[in-house]
Amino acid sequence: MTVVGVLALQGDFEAHGRVLERLGAQARVVRESADLDGLDALVIPGGESTTMSLGIEREGLAEPLRAVVRAGTPVLGTCAGLIMLDRDHLDLLDMRARRNAFGRQVASFEEELDLPLGDAFAGSPPVRAVFIRAPWVEEHGEVIDVLASVDGHPVAVRHGDILAVAFHPEITGEDRLHRWLVERAAARRTGPTPAPAHEAA
Ligand code: GLN
Repeated sequence: MTVVGVLALQGDFEAHGRVLERLGAQARVVRESADLDGLDALVIPGGESTTMSLGIEREGLAEPLRAVVRAGTPVLGTCAGLIMLDRDHLDLLDMRARRNAFGRQVASFEEELDLPLGDAFAGSPPVRAVFIRAPWVEEHGEVIDVLASVDGHPVAVRHGDILAVAFHPEITGEDRLHRWLVERAAARRTGPTPAPAHEAA
């Protein structure tokens, strides 16, 4: 079974756990570094990025989290989770997030977004994206793929198996982003398919 850790220092980690269990994965609450052992994938949920940063510092989790992600463990970061992945926080994505970027007046809003994330999304309805005091990606390096933007600002970005979105897929019944994460974890476990003999020559 695919074991997906959900960082649970603060924020809406329980909703992510429910989506993952619905998909047949095992959701494991991550509160200390021992909880990271043997994870197939990781979710960094939304919440309040300052509080989450303090929790990461208090628990000495920054280096263990970096090690897990740098070892290739697929990650989904949502909202404050996107902020935690940027250069000023865990420094796992070559980008800088801007907190509460849509302004205080625009505390929350919804958009329909098309996410080019493989088969689960091809020819299927757009994602109903709920933004709650959301960040956007202010600036990013060339390695970052921008999957979706709002008003010209990236709100869904990917680098390899690290996916960060500024919205909350876990509260709308949307499960395709979590499905992507579980599939990436499974693909990594089975490893690359060996090339057929005639291609290997
Ligand atoms: N505004 C929050 C922050 O800056 C993020 C909001 C969220 O995760 N929904 O940390």
